[in-house]
Amino acid sequence: MTAKRPALAAESIEGLPREQDALPDDSTFALCLTHDVDRPYKGIRSLYYATRERPAYHLRTALSTANPYWQFEEIMALEDELGVRSAFYFLNEQHLLADRPIREWFAPANWVQHLGRYDVTAPDLVDVIRDLDDGGWEVGLHGSYHSANDPERLREEKTVLENVLGDSVTGGRQHYLKLSVPETWQYHHTIGLAYDATLGSSTECGFHAGYHPLRPFDDDFLVFPLTIMEQALPDPASAFVAARETCERLLLEAADNGAVMTVLWHPRYFNEREFPGYRDLYQWLVERASELGAWIGPPRALCADRPAQASRADATANEVHFTYERANP
Ligand SMILES: [Zn+2]
Repeated sequence: MTAKRPALAAESIEGLPREQDALPDDSTFALCLTHDVDRPYKGIRSLYYATRERPAYHLRTALSTANPYWQFEEIMALEDELGVRSAFYFLNEQHLLADRPIREWFAPANWVQHLGRYDVTAPDLVDVIRDLDDGGWEVGLHGSYHSANDPERLREEKTVLENVLGDSVTGGRQHYLKLSVPETWQYHHTIGLAYDATLGSSTECGFHAGYHPLRPFDDDFLVFPLTIMEQALPDPASAFVAARETCERLLLEAADNGAVMTVLWHPRYFNEREFPGYRDLYQWLVERASELGAWIGPPRALCADRPAQASRADATANEVHFTYERANP
């Protein structure tokens, strides 16, 4: 039986077609701002970390009503001040006990994942998702760990988020940057997403997958390679100048090449007490990009109108297959 999946347009990432016309008029390059919402509550998950570092502080914040990882309003205020918008990708992880095989219940790593789980249909999340949308931010999908290889799961997560949003989502990024090429992109394509922003590294900054968005199926579906994940930078708490210089170098490289540069700052990194320096660095990055003549915004704004799901290509997948998996939260 023929799978209704688009074929990868080349046998390597390097060989894939590129979207060369993604830049809005008059801009020297594009800076796409993204936030993966992994865990908006510090919550009980920090009990795990409490065994390793700063136990008193972590225990106190875990048990208090304060929510140091709830940074939505802070980020919206900051970006409002800077005159920019970004994308927030929401995660809808499976319930360990309800949805995963029994053998997985006993792995401590799974407990750490699942104790940090949140529910996008909880009232406070619903409010924030709608506020973001109303304010012009992009709300996208942060596909759960297993969804990279599970199209039905991915489709369900998209549907739940869209029901909360009351609108369709355009794209997103997979949790842990987990990506099977070409399958995960085929699943995105099939369920009607117009882009993916997963391709990248949690340990290396740079344009490792080139300067322009990829068109893996030689149609309107775009892949935005990740240029900077905040945790791959020198720690701005102890080495702010080095971190800023890395950002400066990449911004200049982007400007020289008319690139689309994509950055990821997890919302919890905007908490100055727990992640000192990251918020200031983000602000500097946006201001510097603006000085250099960049267009700044969420990836959705650079996508063509979403093609109708029914008109998508249905060629058989070819044999190209490789897996990306990176250890990042
Ligand atoms: Zn994630």
